[in-house]
Amino acid sequence: MASRANHLVLLGCGLLCAATLLCAGMIGPSVAQGPASQPVSQGPASLAAIPNPAGVSTFPIASDARLAGDARQTRFILDLDKPVQFRAFALADPYRVVIDLPQVSFQLPAGIGTAGRGLVRAFRYGLVMPGGSRIVFDLTGPAKIAKSYVLEAANGQPPRLVLELEHADRTAFVQSLAPESRPELRPAIAEANAAAGTPPESPAAAPPPQAPDKRPVIVIDPGHGGVDNGTQAGGGDFMEKNLVLGFGLALRDRIEKSGKYRVVMTRTDDTFIALADRVKIARSEAAALFVSIHADALPRGEGDAQGATIYTLSDKASDSEAQRLADVENKSDAIGGVNLTDEPTEVADILIDLIQRETKTFSNRFARILMGEMKNTVRMHKHPLKSAGFRVLKAPDVPSVLVELGYVSNKGDLEHLVSENWRNRTVGSMAQAIDTFLAKRLATAGSAK
Ligand SMILES: [Zn+2]
Repeated sequence: MASRANHLVLLGCGLLCAATLLCAGMIGPSVAQGPASQPVSQGPASLAAIPNPAGVSTFPIASDARLAGDARQTRFILDLDKPVQFRAFALADPYRVVIDLPQVSFQLPAGIGTAGRGLVRAFRYGLVMPGGSRIVFDLTGPAKIAKSYVLEAANGQPPRLVLELEHADRTAFVQSLAPESRPELRPAIAEANAAAGTPPESPAAAPPPQAPDKRPVIVIDPGHGGVDNGTQAGGGDFMEKNLVLGFGLALRDRIEKSGKYRVVMTRTDDTFIALADRVKIARSEAAALFVSIHADALPRGEGDAQGATIYTLSDKASDSEAQRLADVENKSDAIGGVNLTDEPTEVADILIDLIQRETKTFSNRFARILMGEMKNTVRMHKHPLKSAGFRVLKAPDVPSVLVELGYVSNKGDLEHLVSENWRNRTVGSMAQAIDTFLAKRLATAGSAK
């Protein structure tokens, strides 16, 4: 676990600083000094005070959770093996409550959280950044956090985290959203290439100077992660977030083999990354291409579909199926506990408009090249090229596509998706398409000078 800190560029402060300190504590005592002098916002900073003298990862273990109460008052209890620091806050539209914790090893009974009670419709949990875990509660309506506290072990009971919710009307709910209770969600950028590196002096320190790498950057974006599982099949045995991560890493390895391109992953582990942050990674890397990897599922009773589909961005969805999918994929932030009201509104700018139009042309060109390659090796959807308003494809200056590898709701597709052989062939055709697209694009860019 500590090795995660080695290949991560940590951005932002607040909770992230706490995460940095936590990770630093796990690497060894000498590196814990650096970030401590940085300004750290009050609340989450206390998360850092987790003693870890042995220098080994000893994450607190959450062993059980339960809900009690009714639609007026609902209590959530999490059993732990040791007390933890935490922060609880509410979010509107949709109504949610979020608990941020230091990294916790969740060993909860399978399927827990899918059925709610009282004010809680459902809850999820998972890693939200290295060193930070999160529990997200979907509420049945507006509710306020009446109390939240941690109990020490007593009377044969383990240490417990307790959250008490009370029904509130919308006005009271909105008033309860103090500015400081807004989420500070600046997840780390998972920097794939540094994976083999040695531990840095300090996770917050600037990287050592080195010759600039001028190779074109390809950003691979495994969808979902952490609290956001994506689509599921087989009663939760199969999760989209795991499948697409494995696929994305295999694609990275294949592309990097040629040495021609630098690959940056938006995530390399089971961490939640907000959609806007995925776009930011593509933009900050001035990426030549952004490829988001997903696996779709049709809702029960809505027929059967099969095969891979390649999506590009458009204002108007190419068909209702594309619209449905964009709605599902765009829900990721709500699932992950991101405060959606913080989203900047899109600016109308003629220059951005021009760049966007050019980017769109390149995105569509890549989508066609990709389909041409993939159809030789992979079963494609009967309409394999579609478009809709995917938020993760909105970098105005980076050609972006989203690939749905198949339908986990289809038996044949699911067999493919979990097959090593299928993955190798698909990764091969995608790497080939990327090379064809970039070789052509770079040649054109070169001759234009
Ligand atoms: Zn997805």
